[in-house]
Amino acid sequence: MEILKIEGVSFRYDAEWILKDISLTIGRGELWGILGPNGSGKTTLLNLIDGIISPQKGAIKIEGIAVGKIQRRNLAKLIAVVPQETAWIFPLTVEEVVLMGRTPHLGRCEFESKQDFDVARSAMEATDVLGFSSRLIQSLSGGERQRVLIARALAQQPKMLLLDEPTSSLDIAHQIRIFELLRRLSEESGLTVLAATHDMNLASLYCNRIALLHKGDFYSNGTPEEALTQKSIRDVYGVDTVVDRHPLTGLPRISLLGGHSPKRGSRWKSGAAPHL
Ligand code: ADP
Repeated sequence: MEILKIEGVSFRYDAEWILKDISLTIGRGELWGILGPNGSGKTTLLNLIDGIISPQKGAIKIEGIAVGKIQRRNLAKLIAVVPQETAWIFPLTVEEVVLMGRTPHLGRCEFESKQDFDVARSAMEATDVLGFSSRLIQSLSGGERQRVLIARALAQQPKMLLLDEPTSSLDIAHQIRIFELLRRLSEESGLTVLAATHDMNLASLYCNRIALLHKGDFYSNGTPEEALTQKSIRDVYGVDTVVDRHPLTGLPRISLLGGHSPKRGSRWKSGAAPHL
């Protein structure tokens, strides 16, 4: 069942169109990887979905209602955002940060109830940060902080989670941990997840859908097999790769050639060069 529909959306900040007449349907509980080169419009797309900016043409609908028609407070009960980088100025504890996610559910000047604390606790449990709930957010590692931000988003009890490069500053073990968490949330809780990412292999392993942005439109979208091919990666990124099957999962596995393209006449062992 669909939860989000992007219908013929065009957007520009100034003269140049950043997104041109794009359309996409996102199903409930799907985990989408939004890929594309720097500047291709991934963050812009997430901001459009979250209603921070509005399309000049077309519409984005959540559960059939245009985002622009939904009150900010109600939108925050549908969509939660995990931002790229957050500067923490005030000395807040992990629990205080996660409780911030309850704001859309509180009345004006209302304090958190036991139920709000319970929801925050469940969110911290789900993201495995409960053990350091009383620590200051500044004192955590990048991977821990990222999980706290996901916990805050979950405390909003949204239907959709938008993440902007959630693993960009993390080591490989923490990258895997975040994607494992996202997959669990989508599979077990039916949460719809859209994550802008640069990592094609992680996206292939964990996302059940991928959208590849290129020159203002989706070059391809669909399953990892449909979206990630040698041709699509070459056309979008201008880079030659070998895309074969992961030996255990059968999903697309992208190997970088590091400039050793047989087409450019570099040093391939005879017979080793893949067909590009
Ligand atoms: P990505 O997330 O894929 O790197 P962005 O959505 O951040 O891409 O940016 C898409 C394009 O829009 C880029 O050319 C960028 O320079 C431009 N852009 C982004 N934000 C603004 C803004 N606030 N004002 C003007 N141009 C912007």
